Amino acid sequence: MQGSCLCGAVSYEVDEIISIKFCHCRTCQLAQGAPYIAAGGVKREHFRWLTGESLVTRYESSPGKHRCFCSRCGTPLLADRANLPHIALRVVTLKEDPKLRPTEHIWLNDDCPWTLDSPDLPRHPAWPTV
Ligand SMILES: [Zn+2]
Ligand SMILES: [Zn+2]
Repeated sequence: MQGSCLCGAVSYEVDEIISIKFCHCRTCQLAQGAPYIAAGGVKREHFRWLTGESLVTRYESSPGKHRCFCSRCGTPLLADRANLPHIALRVVTLKEDPKLRPTEHIWLNDDCPWTLDSPDLPRHPAWPTV
């Protein structure tokens, strides 16, 4: 499976995703600009940059944990903790359905109260028309 950032300069390939979690931690919220993210575990040897690796900026958000994003368009692509055998892929950057489904939500202590599921809110397939 392949994925890329928004501008397309950085692309990658993964062989297999082990599992997917939704992470609500505060650093993910700030790093992604979103209430929570989908992180996919991928063994290091199952991940390859295809293009634009020189544009990838690595930000150390906590000791030993680097968040990697495209320096041109800002898309977060993965988090990499050197002492772990896998990286945490930002699953939403894949170009295809990974087939695997998320199995858990973590760091709910950091959740924003306004992101609670609101099934009653209007839902639109795209930008709402007035
Ligand atoms: Zn980009
Ligand atoms: Zn997180």
